[in-house]
Amino acid sequence: MIAQPALGELRAALRGTVLAPGEPGYEDARQIFNAMIDSRPALIARCATAADVVACVGFAQAHGLDVSARGGGHNVSGKAVIDGGLMIDLSPMKACRIDPVRRTARAEPGLTLAEFDHDCQAFGLATTMGAISATGIAGLTLGGGFGWLCGKYGLACDNLLSVDIVTADGRLRTASPTEHPDLFWAVCGGGANFGVVTSFEFRLHEVGPVLGGGIVFPFAKAGRVLAFYDQFARGCPDELSVNAAVWTAADGAPVVGIAVAWCGALDLGARVLEPLRRFEAPLADMIAPMRYVDRQRTSDAFFPHGRRHYWKAGWQRRLGPDAIEVMVEFAARRPSPYTRLSLQQMHGAAARVPPSATAFAHRNDQWEVQILSQWQDTADDEPNIRWTRACHAALEPHLDRAVYVNNLGDDESDRVSEAYGSNYERLAAIKAVYDPANFFRSNQNVATPPR
Ligand SMILES: Cc1cc2nc3c(=O)[nH]c(=O)nc-3n(C[C@H](O)[C@H](O)[C@H](O)COP(=O)(O)OP(=O)(O)OC[C@H]3O[C@@H](n4cnc5c(N)ncnc54)[C@H](O)[C@@H]3O)c2cc1C
Repeated sequence: MIAQPALGELRAALRGTVLAPGEPGYEDARQIFNAMIDSRPALIARCATAADVVACVGFAQAHGLDVSARGGGHNVSGKAVIDGGLMIDLSPMKACRIDPVRRTARAEPGLTLAEFDHDCQAFGLATTMGAISATGIAGLTLGGGFGWLCGKYGLACDNLLSVDIVTADGRLRTASPTEHPDLFWAVCGGGANFGVVTSFEFRLHEVGPVLGGGIVFPFAKAGRVLAFYDQFARGCPDELSVNAAVWTAADGAPVVGIAVAWCGALDLGARVLEPLRRFEAPLADMIAPMRYVDRQRTSDAFFPHGRRHYWKAGWQRRLGPDAIEVMVEFAARRPSPYTRLSLQQMHGAAARVPPSATAFAHRNDQWEVQILSQWQDTADDEPNIRWTRACHAALEPHLDRAVYVNNLGDDESDRVSEAYGSNYERLAAIKAVYDPANFFRSNQNVATPPR
């Protein structure tokens, strides 16, 4: 419980609003994408500006409160919400200023991908973001951020030019390659360890209509389709990104599919995609020219807000026959029809950045093997979690010892060093400079001595 005078002090210090348990809006504000997360902050500060974030950090330090930062609230681990602490809710901060001449965006941390892409595309511009439009730009970028444009333009964090960030000492700093360069290096893929980012400056690129959509095959063809995927995706040009997945169609039938986005000249893209459209008779071929913002939304329906989620993932460079066999076998006995087994590609420009150039270490032509379990009822938690763990254990021998920090679960602190890889020690050293007491620890934490 926070005493009334202290609560009044925080309210007076903010342009935004403060919600305490029991107050109207509190229950909604603590909900995030993953319904498994039921944390109850002592206070939720719905920040309006960077100055509000400065006030929140000072207040939490003065009153010994733990903090979390909430961007889009999409991360499955639920670290955006903190039990008994101060949740610094950035979701009201949605300003986005595009400079079409310099081709840059100045974007606040409450923006979702849908909102950010919408504003950039008004000028025919975009930069790499993820593949589901309700995701927040903040958490995605801080952990790396890969999606349909990463082959051509690198990761979201590779397109960062600067950030404004409130550090643990309560100071608002600008970090860029020339100002606090060590801090800037760390936030480019080092997760949310170093402070609360109040503004992101991105480099943008001209992105016109894309060739997007996917091809669906019966599940009985899964082995052949995944083997084709391995060969087709590994050789593909930077302009193309290719994902694969096994899921359950609306009529209840299990299916396997390959989804694409081509961001180059459309006639050339059509030729590049020919082998994919010919190798096997599909149930449906939905590849067509489309607006980039529409491509960014085509998979949204598979991930509605409010289901229960338990995910595991890992990077992989080659999908051999043994791994395919495991995937097909586990896919055939998914306990929930909403669960997907996916392969999401990272390659090209994103893979050519040297591992030590940013905090995001895993720079390979690869895909992320994603076991994306989702279901509706609390009563189904146990079988779904059990199946996910078994599937991951069976796939693990076929994966690299490397994982994407943004898809680590709440119970995977033992894999955090795998996520940061060869950059872990440098990250820990920078953490010791900017946050020696580990004030920001509601994240995939770079360990420092506990407070
Ligand atoms: C359905 C779905 C699809 C996805 N698809 C992709 C994809 O295609 N590509 C991809 O790269 N990732 C993808 N992800 C993973 C995604 O990048 C992470 O979940 C990411 O953390 C979401 O960002 P957020 O702002 O919504 O998260 P939040 O849950 O709000 O935050 C995640 C973490 O970042 C911290 N944080 C948030 N904002 C700030 C800030 N401003 N300053 C400091 N710390 C902050 C939080 O405290 C928390 O630790 C997907 C996730 C989901 C659920």
